[in-house]
Formats: sequence, structure tokens, C-alpha cells
Amino acid sequence: MKILFVASESGPFIRTGGLGDVVGSLPKTISQLGEEVAVVLPLYEEISADYRNKMEFIGSSVVPLGWRQQYGGLFKLEWENVSFFFVDNEYYFKRKGLYGHFDDGERFAFFSKAALELLPFMNFGKKKGAPDIIHCNDWQTGLVPVMLDAFYRHLDFYKNIKTVMAIHNIEFQGEMDKYVIDNVFGIPASHAAIVEYKGNANMLKAGIESANKVVTVSPTYAKEIMDPFFANGLEDILKARSFKISGILNGIDVDLYNPEKDKALFVKFSASTPAKKAGNKKGLQKLFNLPQKEGVPLIGMVTRLTSQKGIDLVIRVIHEILSLDLQLIVLGTGDWKYENALNDIANQYPTKMASAIYFSADVASKIYGGADMFLMPSKFEPCGLSQMMSMRYGTIPIVRETGGLKDSVAPFNPETKEGVGFTFVTYNAYDMLDAIRRAVGTFANKEEWSALMKNAMEKDWSWARSAREYIALYKSI
Ligand code: ADP
Repeated sequence: MKILFVASESGPFIRTGGLGDVVGSLPKTISQLGEEVAVVLPLYEEISADYRNKMEFIGSSVVPLGWRQQYGGLFKLEWENVSFFFVDNEYYFKRKGLYGHFDDGERFAFFSKAALELLPFMNFGKKKGAPDIIHCNDWQTGLVPVMLDAFYRHLDFYKNIKTVMAIHNIEFQGEMDKYVIDNVFGIPASHAAIVEYKGNANMLKAGIESANKVVTVSPTYAKEIMDPFFANGLEDILKARSFKISGILNGIDVDLYNPEKDKALFVKFSASTPAKKAGNKKGLQKLFNLPQKEGVPLIGMVTRLTSQKGIDLVIRVIHEILSLDLQLIVLGTGDWKYENALNDIANQYPTKMASAIYFSADVASKIYGGADMFLMPSKFEPCGLSQMMSMRYGTIPIVRETGGLKDSVAPFNPETKEGVGFTFVTYNAYDMLDAIRRAVGTFANKEEWSALMKNAMEKDWSWARSAREYIALYKSI
């Protein structure tokens, strides 16, 4: 099969979050399993010159977008057996930052249209011709399936292409005033109703409605988004199309997040040398000026400080948490009210808690490697990667049972010694506190804790498992 990913970001070129992790890893893994894969991205100004200098110019075309006629250039770079194509247009992409511009709707409508218009230039794989599957990601590419039907389907080259719409986070939908449907996107009246929702334009809804299949990043999230609590207004659309919606759990880059090789660690270790993890705990305690006590459990958090991540629960019972014999380190940036609150509390408890209000992959690794437990009490979590990273480093997750957290963290059963973490169900600070207490209690039992660490470290979070499920999904279409 030939599969083309259309996405607004991808590691290693340009990345702002989980979506970039997925697009940087999944296509490469699908290609390792023998399929032919390409990715098309916008050529952002912020993609570094190191990559730009290696790109090859393929061609250009005029891309019609409503009444506008825009230049669309195409560059190519082969990277780890995947062809990466980049759509060039300086008016739309020569700017600071990927998102947050007043005309994001127009920018990504252009990108979606250009990806389709330039498709005949995108030669990849052994046989010439169109891809079998176009795999779209999040609202930025939600117009691809509807534009394919409205503008290109009648042409021979495009007639057999099938589409997948992947939802990485339904919080973001590309919602805007509905005048853009005609005036900016140029969607004809015949297809306008697909893009319109509740009196607005909604780019994600357009993709959900017009793609052959819809996929989310965990099986539980695929069910949760039928519920208004999670769906951000799209529940009726999703329920009506539940027949074509499924969930596939993401993986992590197990070469990158590998305690045997990670250069950020104080001491490298593996599932067969778990005792060496203690050196990382010591180093981490020293880094944050916490007493270097091995017997006191150390809880880490590495997270965006937003309401999605359950920071309000942590702050709600912070004094109860810190009255236990434990230490807490929080690394993250986000809403100023959370940043300030965490700094204030850390100042009150200098021997028990540290706040690190910045972004650092190096310190993140040190926390995954050095903490005993990883706290992630999310209100909702489409998949979540950090709980998988922490398990890979033998750090036991304490999570709320939602989305990908529910699918990846089975609660520990002391009788059977099965399970990898501690969980709670209701979004309630005291239920979270209870899970923390259970974790701290188990930590005191060395035999049970070793079993837990072993279970967590032996879990397979590699992308190969997910990639096989994606290939099966493509074949089903
Ligand atoms: P989300 O994509 O919702 O932010 P995920 O758990 O899927 O949550 O992915 C978060 C990623 O961002 C992880 O790789 C995590 O290590 C990283 N991350 C989050 N905050 C920070 C930070 N302050 N410093 C370094 N890495 C961070």
C-alpha cells in the first residue's frame, strides 16, 4: 500500500506536542513493516536550515483557494525511509510560530488544498500514481477529504484514494465564522453543509463526516468522545458515525526513551539492573535541593500546566499530599495561575517539593529516570505519552482512568502481582489522594515494588504494535 500522511507538524523537523511525536514515528514504523509511506507538511519558516539545505525542489503549481490563486511550491527530503514533502508558500508559512495567527483557517485550508493539488508531483514508492490512503491529522487537515470529493474526485488520478481522519485531541476543532466556507475555503454549495456545524465552520467536523474512517489515539478515548463531557460539542456527529470510528493506542520511540542509552540520565540502567535507578533518584534530589533520602518516595510530574492535566486536583489537596512522607517535583509550563501556585507551594515546602517552571527535555528524562512514581491525574487524555515514558524508566504511574491512561495503566493487584500502576476513576482530588496513599503504602513493601517496576519496564510501548493496527485499518478500507 501507498500511504500519505498530511499533517501540520512532525518530528524531527518541527514539533509542538504529541501530534509531532506521532507523525515523526508512526510513518517510519509503517514503512519498516513494508508499506510505502510519505508525509506532507507545511514548509514553516522555523524549520531549521540544516534540514532546508538538504531539501530538493520538486515543482510548483498555482493552488486555487476560493477566489484566490496562490503559489504552491513542493520540496522533498528522504528521511529514515520515508519521503517528506514540504509545501512552500511564504505568505502563509514565513511567520513566527506554527499556530495562533488570525488566518489559521485560511492557512491550513491552503495547505490542505495544496497537498491535493500537488499530489501528482509527489512520487514515492515503487509504482507511480496516487496513494491508496491519505491519513489526515487533526483539524488543520480536516478539509482534505471534503476537498478531495468536491474538487478532485472526478479526475482519474484521484478517483480511488481513500481517507482516514485521525483525532489527536478533540478540544481543538478549527471552528470559525461560517463566511469562510465559501469566501475563503471556496467550498461549493454542494459540500458546504459538511463543513458547517451549529452555525459555524468546523474543520474537524468536515473531516469526521467525509473521511472513510475516523481514528483516535486510544480505544477508550474513541468511546469517550461520544459523551458530551469529552466531545466539545461534537458528540452528535460522532455518535451518528460511530460505525466508522475506532481507537489505536499510540506508542513511544523506544530507542529515544531508553534508560540503557539516555544521555540525560545520571546512571544508565535497564529492567535487569533496576537497582541502578537509585543513582538517578539521588542525582535528581541533588539537582532540586531535596534531601537525598532513598527510602522516601519521590513523585514526578512532567506536564503542560493546563486544566486538561488535572493540576487543579493536585493543588486542591497539596497540603494533604505533602503531609505524607514523600517528595514531589513538578516540571512544566502553562497557565500562569498554576505556575504561580506551584511556585508558592514549593517555597512553603522547600524540603519536600520543587517546582521547575520551564521546558527541558533533559530534565524531563532525569525525572522519568529518577522519580519513583509519576503523577498524571488528567481530566481527559486522548492517549498520553508521558505515562509510557515513565513506565519505560521503571517509574510507576498514578493516573486517572481516562482515555489512553486507562488503556495503558492496569492497576496493580498485590495478590496476583499483576498491573503497572495506581489508578482512580472519578475526577476528584480525594480519590487521587487515595491512589497516592496506596502507591506510597506499596512503595514501603520492597518485594511488591520490585514486581511493579519489573511489570512496568517490561511493557512493550514500541510503535510496531500501533503500526500493525493502522495497516489493518487501511486494509479494511
Ligand atoms: P500532551 O501531548 O497532551 O502534552 P503527552 O503526554 O501526550 O501530553 O506528551 C507530552 C510530551 O511533552 C512528553 O514527551 C513530555 O515529556 C513532554 N513535556 C511536557 N512538558 C514538558 C516540559 N516542561 N519539559 C520537557 N518536556 C515536556
